[in-house]
Amino acid sequence: MKRLRDIPLARKLSLLLLLTNSLTLVSLAAIFVAFDYRELERRMIAELQLTAETIGANSTAALNFDDRRTGEEILAALRGDVRVREAVLLTAGGDELAAFRADLGQTGLIDRSTLRGGTSVTGDVALLVHDIYMNDERLGRIVLRADLSSLRQHLLTTVGLSLLVLPVTIIVGHLFATWFVGIITRPVRKLTMAARELSERPGRWVELPSESADEVGELTRCFRVMLEGIRERDRALNEHKDHLEEEVRERTRELNEARLRAEDAARMKSEFLANMSHEIRTPMNGVLGLTALELETNLAPETRDNLELVNLSARNLLTVINDILDFSKIEAGKMNVESVSFPLGHTLGRQLKTLALPADNKGLRFTCEIDPLLPESVEGDPTRLLQVLTNLVGNAIKFTEQGAVRVVVAPDGANVKFCVADSGIGIAPDQLGRILESFTQADGSTTRRFGGTGLGLAISNRLCELMCGALRVESEVGVGSRFTFSLPLPASTADQPPAVEIEPGTNVLIVDDDPTNRRVLAGYAKSMGLDATLAASADEALALARAACARGAPFQIIFSDFHMPGIARSSPADKQ
Ligand code: ADP
Repeated sequence: MKRLRDIPLARKLSLLLLLTNSLTLVSLAAIFVAFDYRELERRMIAELQLTAETIGANSTAALNFDDRRTGEEILAALRGDVRVREAVLLTAGGDELAAFRADLGQTGLIDRSTLRGGTSVTGDVALLVHDIYMNDERLGRIVLRADLSSLRQHLLTTVGLSLLVLPVTIIVGHLFATWFVGIITRPVRKLTMAARELSERPGRWVELPSESADEVGELTRCFRVMLEGIRERDRALNEHKDHLEEEVRERTRELNEARLRAEDAARMKSEFLANMSHEIRTPMNGVLGLTALELETNLAPETRDNLELVNLSARNLLTVINDILDFSKIEAGKMNVESVSFPLGHTLGRQLKTLALPADNKGLRFTCEIDPLLPESVEGDPTRLLQVLTNLVGNAIKFTEQGAVRVVVAPDGANVKFCVADSGIGIAPDQLGRILESFTQADGSTTRRFGGTGLGLAISNRLCELMCGALRVESEVGVGSRFTFSLPLPASTADQPPAVEIEPGTNVLIVDDDPTNRRVLAGYAKSMGLDATLAASADEALALARAACARGAPFQIIFSDFHMPGIARSSPADKQ
């Protein structure tokens, strides 16, 4: 059975009215029937009492004279009252003087031994005892036995009538109540439907009931106002949405333009970087190469000192320039790391050997321990690995006045761990946290004392990240510093290309558009005893190469500038 609160409102109200109506009508009918019965009974008893009194008054003479015949004549008058079934006239001594019995042949049913004054009713039988007086002297009494079954008959008739009338009244009442409830609940139902339609399809038009002056009318009015508010808000929202879409389109267009401009700027920046890299490094290489060549000749001691100073300054300047260019490349996201097979121990040993000299010059103990358990060849980027190591070892030597600089390379799970430790000046704890950031130097005064851009560690840190590692630093002021990083360098099975031995007299072609570089390279070739031919352009180089082939003596080695005007195809920025 449905729970009461889940039943529709109209049915709930009809049910309520039906119940109250039925209850009221049944109660009223019951009260009416009971009252009617009691009233009728009272009236009947009163009538019988009046009859007894009248008979009593008429019987005084008969009782006085003990006149049975007169007594019986008087009682015979009761024949006209069907309710009186028996009447007995008793003398003062209690003897029967006369009697009337409606049912012929019936002996008396009145038990004289238990008679009490007044009226008593037992079931359908009423017994009336009326004492007869004359001048305050009791002459006797009259006893009436009456049949009250007509009362019960009347009760049954009234109940039957009520049972007939009640359902009809209840049904008519229910029909009327249903009609009335319909009037009350119709607008509520309409409102409910409107709310449901709106919740299913917001924004659609819905029909609202007409507004009456009662609470439902008030509810309808509020609903209408709310609906108008929602519609107004929807309209404003749609307008705003249209406007917003327009704005988004405009912004997207602006953003696209800005992106294109930024991409253009980035492309121009990387082109500028590539050009700058080439433009700066070319003359620097010229300076370095020519001073190196000059230093190999016989020079006056003062000239040699000056030239060595020029060479050192140029090398320092190239380091600074390289740092700045590398940093710009990393910032522009143009720095790529490669993965090639290379001999780990051999590559590290050869590079670190070049750093042993400056350490030795400062009187430092420089050691390099490469764990023999490490694979001979690994996959990785040797150039960037050496760049990081060179920077860390260079710093270690730079910031250590006495003691040792130690490089340890060992397996670290699947990785290779590199550690550069020194017994130098160390780094203060407050600087340690940001020492790997760009342009940071532990102490401003070290710039002047030791030189440097403050970019080396930042570049090393970013290179380690690019190679899937992380640079860590531990340091204690006055005790030393320890830089570590661990890189995934899987063992390589590829064969290493054999080292090229260049024999004196080898036929080489040197291609470079820069005359200084050509001169430097020609000087190197000459010092190695090579037979060098020079070409200033790609076309000239190709013509020379073809001619050499035609002669049957092709060039065995070609040294060529990567960035030759008019012929270079790939972006030089990728290779610088
Ligand atoms: P810089 O070119 O100035 O050496 P780096 O980024 O390589 O730039 O180093 C930043 C700063 O970190 C240095 O100026 C120095 O103060 C500190 N630093 C780096 N390595 C060491 C070290 N091994 N011992 C002490 N201080 C160091």
